[in-house]
Amino acid sequence: SALERTIIVTGGAGFIGSHVVRRLVNNYPHYHIVNVDALTYAGNLANVADVADAPNYSFVRADITDLEGIRAVFAVHQVDAVIHLAAESHVDRSIDDPLIFVKTNLLGTATMLQVAKESWGPHPQGKLFYHVSTDEVFGSLGELGFFTESTAYDPRSPYSASKAGSDHLVRAWGHTFGLPVVISNCSNNYGPNQFPEKLLPLFINNIKHLKPLPVYGKGVNVRDWLYVEDHARAIDDVLHKGKPGETYNIGGHNEYRNIDLIRLLCKLMDAKLGRPEGTSENLITYVTDRAGHDLRYAIDASKIRNELGWEPSLHFEEGLARTIDWYLENEAWLEGVTSGDYQAYYDKMYGK
Ligand code: NAD
Repeated sequence: SALERTIIVTGGAGFIGSHVVRRLVNNYPHYHIVNVDALTYAGNLANVADVADAPNYSFVRADITDLEGIRAVFAVHQVDAVIHLAAESHVDRSIDDPLIFVKTNLLGTATMLQVAKESWGPHPQGKLFYHVSTDEVFGSLGELGFFTESTAYDPRSPYSASKAGSDHLVRAWGHTFGLPVVISNCSNNYGPNQFPEKLLPLFINNIKHLKPLPVYGKGVNVRDWLYVEDHARAIDDVLHKGKPGETYNIGGHNEYRNIDLIRLLCKLMDAKLGRPEGTSENLITYVTDRAGHDLRYAIDASKIRNELGWEPSLHFEEGLARTIDWYLENEAWLEGVTSGDYQAYYDKMYGK
């Protein structure tokens, strides 16, 4: 094609991937963005409907664990870079059904690496394999301290172990085969288009329907929250300015205990829905803690700030307000993903 650079985004129909696809399609009309996604329960083409007709966008339905399928994608497109986001992503599901996490996150990542290597040849110039990962690979912090790029890996859930293993595979293809690789490890994302099994959309939807809010344990676990568009901008920066062989931590410097976050959400939603204060908080029900629940994650993002000039842009209360508005305004999207299979999953995890 006449476009100057072809970039595969795996998992582009998912939560973060869809924001990455939208950003790249809109900001780089001279790039061809190829969204490669298997459309699992978490993949939804409605997430990228607004760019579906753009001349520099294509969608290919393919499974990253299918060697021949991925080879076929590389045979059709002259791929310059891969941004690899496709994964099984939900910790609770990884406790319930770990093997699919091993398959998708390990075999799937190895398959993408191997096909990139085959297609690009030894020590390719101007190519990049960019792997998007999580801060959960570093394990759990006490009350103090932060994860840096040199923190030792210590994953504790099947999800984080499979992501840690995928990071190791990426570095192995870099060291052994000279594949130009870069990795970023990001904290918890929130925002529009997140599948409502994850805390914020789950609770927004439950508050809307006056359903119980299942809080794990005492709600004291701490997460560092980052607005998804800020993560997509960080991914754009790493793609363009990141150094091959390097790792970048991405975080919001925005730590909340779950219970404090939930109380803030309840307050904002009571106000938005015109309900008496306290209506939503009364829905809080404490449930048995997640097995092996990590206490605290927190990212030191000074490397990406100092070297690539990236910083989070949105104040958390502003991001949260935007997120709530999006879910309330996009009722059809929410209905679409919470009908069918989701209901059976919900009943299994939380009871009716
Ligand atoms: P998501 O579950 O919303 O989306 C995952 C996407 O991958 C879906 O579109 C799904 O269809 C696709 N997919 C799954 N298995 C596939 C397969 N075998 N072949 C092809 N496509 C497949 O996930 P997300 O929250 O957007 O996370 C995206 C990436 O970012 C993941 O690698 C995750 O580990 C990482 N990450 C997520 C967060 C977060 O807070 N959500 C934070 C840091 C890193």
